[in-house]
Formats: sequence, C-alpha cells, structure tokens
Amino acid sequence: SVHLVWFRHDLRCHDNEALHAAFNAAAADNGVVIAVFIATAKSWQQHHMAAIRQDLLRRRVKALESELADLNIPLVMVEGVDYASCAKTIAAFIPKGLVALYAQREYEVREQQRDEQVSALLQQQQIDCHWFDRLCIMPPGSVLTQQGDVYKVFTPFKRNWLAKYAEQGVHCFAKPKPQARTFTDLPTFTVMQEGDNSSSAWPVAEAEVLQQMRLFCQQKVQDYTLQRDLPAVDGTSQVSPYLAIGVLSAQQCVARLQLEAGASIWQEKSGAAVWLSELIWRDFYKHIMLAFPKLIKHKAFQAETDLIQWPNNAALFEAWCQGKTGYPIVDAAMRQLNQTGWMHNRLRMITASFLVKDLHIDWRWGEQYFMSKLIDGDFAANNGGWQWAASTGTDAAPYFRIFNPVTQSQRFDANGDFIRKFIPELAAKSAKDIHWPHKPITPKGYAAPVVAHDQVRKITLALFSAVKNQE
Ligand code: FAD
Repeated sequence: SVHLVWFRHDLRCHDNEALHAAFNAAAADNGVVIAVFIATAKSWQQHHMAAIRQDLLRRRVKALESELADLNIPLVMVEGVDYASCAKTIAAFIPKGLVALYAQREYEVREQQRDEQVSALLQQQQIDCHWFDRLCIMPPGSVLTQQGDVYKVFTPFKRNWLAKYAEQGVHCFAKPKPQARTFTDLPTFTVMQEGDNSSSAWPVAEAEVLQQMRLFCQQKVQDYTLQRDLPAVDGTSQVSPYLAIGVLSAQQCVARLQLEAGASIWQEKSGAAVWLSELIWRDFYKHIMLAFPKLIKHKAFQAETDLIQWPNNAALFEAWCQGKTGYPIVDAAMRQLNQTGWMHNRLRMITASFLVKDLHIDWRWGEQYFMSKLIDGDFAANNGGWQWAASTGTDAAPYFRIFNPVTQSQRFDANGDFIRKFIPELAAKSAKDIHWPHKPITPKGYAAPVVAHDQVRKITLALFSAVKNQE
C-alpha cells in the first residue's frame, strides 16, 4: 500500500504530523510513504505573493527533496497551475496501491475549497484523506469564550490560551527514521521551476533554520522585551519567513522556548513571556480569519469603517512605496522592505499608520503592497496587522490615536543608525537632526515632506467620525 503526504505550508521533516501519521500507517500495513508538492504560481500571483517569498518556497522544496531522500521518501515536485486545478493534478498523480493522503489543513477560503475538491475526488476512489490541524499551536475552535464563541479581542483570548497551554503543554512529532524500502514507480510531471534566487540571503536547510530558532531562545529571548522595538538591533528571531511556509512549526518554537526559558515563561514582561505572546497573536489572527471569512474578501472587521471615503492620492501612495515621503523613519523602513523583503515589526506599525492616518490611503492598498514585497507574507498576520494599524480591526488602536513618525523615530531609533543604513542621503546628519532633517533646508537628494503631520490629524478624525456617527 502507498501513503501520500501532500506538502503545502508544512515544509519540514521534524514535527510534521501528516508525515508522522503516514509513516505510522505505512509501518502498520507494510506499505510505503511518498510525497508531493504542487507549485501553483497562478494562485500565488492572484494572492500577490512576493517574488522573494515564492523563491524561498521553491528553494525550500528543493532542500526538502534531499532531506526526504535521506528518509527514503521520494518527493515529486509538480509545476501545477492554481488551487482550482490541484484536484486534477492529484487525480493524474494517483499511483497504483494508493490508500490514503495526509496533509496539514489550511484556513484561507480558496485553500479550503481546494481541499474539499481533493477530498471529494479521492473519496470516489475509496482513498482516505487525513487532514491535520497543526498550523496553529491551539487549533481553531479550541480557544472559545464560555458561550462557545470566537474571541474578538486578544487579551481574553490569550488568557484562555495560556490556561490551555498550562494544562496541555505542546507536543512535537519526532522526525521519522528512514523507511526500509522506497517507491520508484512514480508518474512523471512537468518538473517544478527554479526560483529567481532572490531569497538567497535566507538559508533553507531545516537544520540551519532550527538552529537559528534555538540560538534565539538560548541567547536573545531574555532581552526581547527591550530589544524587540529597536530596528537597528538584531533583537527579534527573524523566523517569520520560516513560520510562514512551515520550515518551522510554532509548536517547535514554544517547545524550545519552554526548554530554554523554563519558569520565566510565566513571568509577565519577561522576554520569554513577551515572545510567547507574539506567537499567540499569530494563532489569534488565524482563528479570527477562519471565523470571519469576510476578512479574506477584503472587508474590514469593523463594518462601519468600510464606509470611509479614503482620498487615495496615487502620488502620495507612490512616495510611500518608494520610501520618498520625507519622513526618515518611514522611508528607511520602506526601503528595508523593498531591498530585503523583510521589515521590522515596529516599522510595520509606523509605516502602516503613516499610510492610513497621514496619507489617508485605504489600508487595503498597503496590505497588498506589503504582500507583494514580504518574504514572510501571511494573509492572517498581514491583514490583522493592517487592520490594527488602520483602526478597522479586532483590537484596533482607537482611530484618534495617531503615531507621530518623528517621535517614534526618536524613541526607537534614537541614534539614527537604522535610518543611516537605509538612507545614505542622511548619513551625515547627527542623532539629533536625523529624525527631522528639514531644518533649515532639506538635504540635497532627500525628499521634502509630502504632508505636514500636525495638519493631517484633523482629516483622519473627520474621515472616521463621519462613519462612526452613522452607527
Ligand atoms: P518575532 O518578534 O521574533 O516574533 C516571533 C513570531 O511571532 C514571528 O515570526 C511571527 O510568526 C509571530 N508574530 C510576531 N508578531 C506578530 C503579530 N503582530 N501578528 C501575528 N504574528 C506575529 N507577520 C507575518 O508573519 N507575516 C506578515 O505578512 C505580517 N504582516 C504584518 C503587517 C503589519 C502592518 C504589521 C503591523 C505586522 C505584520 N506581521 C506579519 C507581524 C510581525 O511584524 C512579524 O511577524 C514580525 O515582524 C516578524 O519578525 P520576527 O520573526 O523577528 O518576529
């Protein structure tokens, strides 16, 4: 008998429940495990997936192929088309003796439809499908209010989440041992294309990625509470690209954190507690996305804010995208995104707030731009982050609270080191002047401010109060 593991956003051998289950089943019926990955470039483009994220994915799949080969598992890498055609691809794939398919469940709408189609197809042929809820640490539906509803606010969600965690801990599945025999009679397909190598700064071997996460938990997490807000400091884990495509599981992060940090995980404001909290945010936004499919259809969580008439000035949007707004911290952040595909969390908050509340551009424009550039693009986290910053989401910042980009810069990049790194035009400016370099005149080569922060506030308040009054 043949057991097929379909890899999607769980591109790893350690802590992979689908792989683990396929192995157990194959051991029980003297069968064999094989694996498939289907590239779906058309769907990725429709979802605005950044080229660098696609490249990371393709590089990772190639690395996974050789890691699985060490376990005697052949990985067939198919260049498919889109999610809608996956059922057709799987149908063409079915090898003789296939008894079951194993995969990790995904919660976006089109992904769910894809899996329903595959389930239906395989059922017709008496092939079992086993879907596993491992994308979140606590699966959706397991952290609910006393009335059985989904939490719409983070703090009580987190409290309940932690109570569950205290009770259950987390479990990670061991990497399987090499299987004794392998399967060679595989169908041939259009071979998966290579990426453009734009993500080459990010290692893709599973062992290296695990090591990066372990080192963070050993050496950096204790300082995370203070360091995580400083973009010039390498104080966060930078595992987001790996969590997004599943080279790592969030469960592995928690298990390692628990091992290294011990009881300090329970001390409020300790680095370990704060880092755990970020991983809980990740769960929270995924639970919310599944419970409110309107989010995937580009709707605001707070419905009345969809009535806001955003001015959407295209020239201002372009200045923001290019890092030419004349606000150094915003521009440095956008250039970091454009040049590296990653942006520090504090800067994601500052740039998002600036786009919406200073430039009065619909948050969806920024959400899509981020998606098209981020190596860690993840619908739930990105949408959650944007709606939070725009005051349209779940725990949203109140709309009248507006980040001041200059004071944020003074506070979180006090020496201006981060700005200097990405804006060479300002390299000669002192720590005092760099946050607002326009006095007495804007330095040559740098953009003049596109708006005056102290004047835009009134417009933001008017845009929001117009729709809030209609409630
Ligand atoms: P750490 O600080 O080391 O945190 C560890 C992990 O926790 C992260 O890798 C991530 O998986 C998770 N995490 C941390 N913060 C958040 C958060 N606020 N929401 C959900 N999960 C979180 N994160 C993405 O993974 N993909 C995105 O597309 C994305 N878009 C964002 C857009 C905006 C406007 C904002 C404000 C935040 C966004 N985030 C996104 C969340 C956060 O900025 C990144 O997860 C973080 O910067 C990644 O760096 P790190 O791995 O060093 O994080």
